[in-house]
Amino acid sequence: MSARVVITIALRVRAFRMEFCSLSGAASARRQLMPARETEAIILKTFPLGEADRLVSFLGRSSGRVRGVASGARRLKNRYGSTLEVLSHVQIWYVERETRDLVRIQQAELLESFHKAQSDYDLSTGLAVISEISELILPEHEVSEPMFRLVLLAAREVERTGDWNLALSYFAFWTVRLGGWLPRFDRCVSCGSPFESKPAFYDGHQAGLFCENCRRSGMKPLHIEARNLAERFAGERLDRIEYEKSLQPSAKELREAGLAWIEHHIERRLMTRELLETT
Ligand SMILES: [Zn+2]
Repeated sequence: MSARVVITIALRVRAFRMEFCSLSGAASARRQLMPARETEAIILKTFPLGEADRLVSFLGRSSGRVRGVASGARRLKNRYGSTLEVLSHVQIWYVERETRDLVRIQQAELLESFHKAQSDYDLSTGLAVISEISELILPEHEVSEPMFRLVLLAAREVERTGDWNLALSYFAFWTVRLGGWLPRFDRCVSCGSPFESKPAFYDGHQAGLFCENCRRSGMKPLHIEARNLAERFAGERLDRIEYEKSLQPSAKELREAGLAWIEHHIERRLMTRELLETT
């Protein structure tokens, strides 16, 4: 090999190296400014934003609740497809922007579709309740593995069974329990007397369960069967509980009590709760 060829090759290698280094240098500088993140997530809500974009609230397994912008998601042909439907289980890639609250969503891939529930009016009402509660009770950027698993399990069960009754009761009960707002189920919060087989009473204005003597006007009953169902919820997996007809009244009572305690805690009415009563 002549000396001239060797020098030419050496120069080319050097030029290539310099180019490569400056490219990767620029890329790493960009990464430092805007680190790209990836997480498994559940879509909580989306709103139209401008003509082409969507504002998306999602619950990330490793990020907590985050709000971001999916650019171009409202265009007829967009890269998100059905990934941004309510409670879709997705893998999401996003970039944080230091100066703004909203992240920029780069990509989302569907991990699990709840298409049956999302496309049915009655079932989608159940999903909307789960979404609204999660949106209201979960602080932004706070990771909550138990709530992530609970939302996913409830959505799966609505999809699998084609019925939101038991799934929503379970979701409301566990949300209250995980929030630390569950009252004692065995005795009156006011006088301490045990309920035994007698009904307990609740409303959305206070956190506890009351006995027949201490109940205030307008309070609703939580019968022994509903309190027993709560005990099953505490110890058994939702997908292992058979939803027999005999469980229906208890599931409803327990769901209503759970939703009342959630409303008491967030100090407002759930907008989706009325929809449940009309379906
Ligand atoms: Zn009492």
